[in-house]
Amino acid sequence: MITGKASVLEQFKAPLQLRQYPIPAKPEPGAALVRTIMAGICGTDVHLWKGELPITLPVILGHETVGRIEQLGEGLEKDWTGQPLKVGDRVTWTSSTSCGECYYCREKHQPTRCAQRRAYGIGYRCDQAPYFLGGYAEYHYLKPRVNIFKIADDLPTEAVVGAGCALNTAIHGVERTGIAWRDNVVVQGAGPVGIAALAVAKSAGAGQVIVLGAPKHRLEMAKRFGADHVIDIDEVKTPADRIAAVRALTGGYGADVVLECVGSPTAVGEGMEMCRDGGKYLVLGHYCDAGPVSWNPHVVTRKQLTVIGSWSYEPRHLRMALEFMRTTQQQFPFAEMVSHRFTLDQANEALATTASWKAAKSVLVPG
Ligand SMILES: [Zn+2]
Ligand SMILES: [Zn+2]
Repeated sequence: MITGKASVLEQFKAPLQLRQYPIPAKPEPGAALVRTIMAGICGTDVHLWKGELPITLPVILGHETVGRIEQLGEGLEKDWTGQPLKVGDRVTWTSSTSCGECYYCREKHQPTRCAQRRAYGIGYRCDQAPYFLGGYAEYHYLKPRVNIFKIADDLPTEAVVGAGCALNTAIHGVERTGIAWRDNVVVQGAGPVGIAALAVAKSAGAGQVIVLGAPKHRLEMAKRFGADHVIDIDEVKTPADRIAAVRALTGGYGADVVLECVGSPTAVGEGMEMCRDGGKYLVLGHYCDAGPVSWNPHVVTRKQLTVIGSWSYEPRHLRMALEFMRTTQQQFPFAEMVSHRFTLDQANEALATTASWKAAKSVLVPG
């Protein structure tokens, strides 16, 4: 029996454990076995590690993965876009697959809310076959109906993992806001989701984009990605001052669209005040439940705000992300987001680096 290594979350808030599992002998029809090239550590993984989403353990974390096809199951001949697939191809995939049959998939066109969806690296326990259903491992098993995408030769693995789920999520979220040409946009947060939202807003036609965040190197990255103004929240410490700073940059009115990419409940009330009257507010950063916050609904009525939510992403968003990154590498250098590399047995260190909220992006290279 051939085995492969995986770093496993067995208990919330306890160190991940290095485990060996048997590698499935042959993928079932429509499935594939992939050898992991690089796996991203997402902020969500930190929340999962802390137990902030009700998941069943043990789990191999990691839902932003690039790998090389080792084996293809019968009938899996093409990727999502129709390109032929073969052993040795470098690929990525959506972390979840919707059923295509249910009320939300078919009737209401909200496939990200499909009840059948389970995400790799989140929703599958790893103590039963096919074991390898998360990124922090030498191998990754892709179940039948997975949405696989072949990666173009001129798009580096670092870019795909550096952008991670953040870019797909940002494309989906910004799409729901319908940013108009020359809109003033505020991005709350300069982590991976904030940087991705900035890139998407810019390319969607935004005029001025103002990014709020910290620490300094994240704001430097925001400038590298085209932020017109950055506001350092370590320096401009109170919400009132930050709201005033945004108003000063927008003719006294506030932004047309504010994109929340923080995940901290208190950011929401502050961000709504940064909108102009009749503006739009997107709550994107709250994939995990960080708890409630007290805020005044009067603001939404008085300012005539449109408040929008967006959950995860669809396969078409990943397709857009890959093509977007390939064609804009100079303007939006997602490969440069990868700031810390670790081996599989350093997974705890990698997770701690992400948990410090200081790294641009930590990745695992199983080697
Ligand atoms: Zn993620
Ligand atoms: Zn469904």
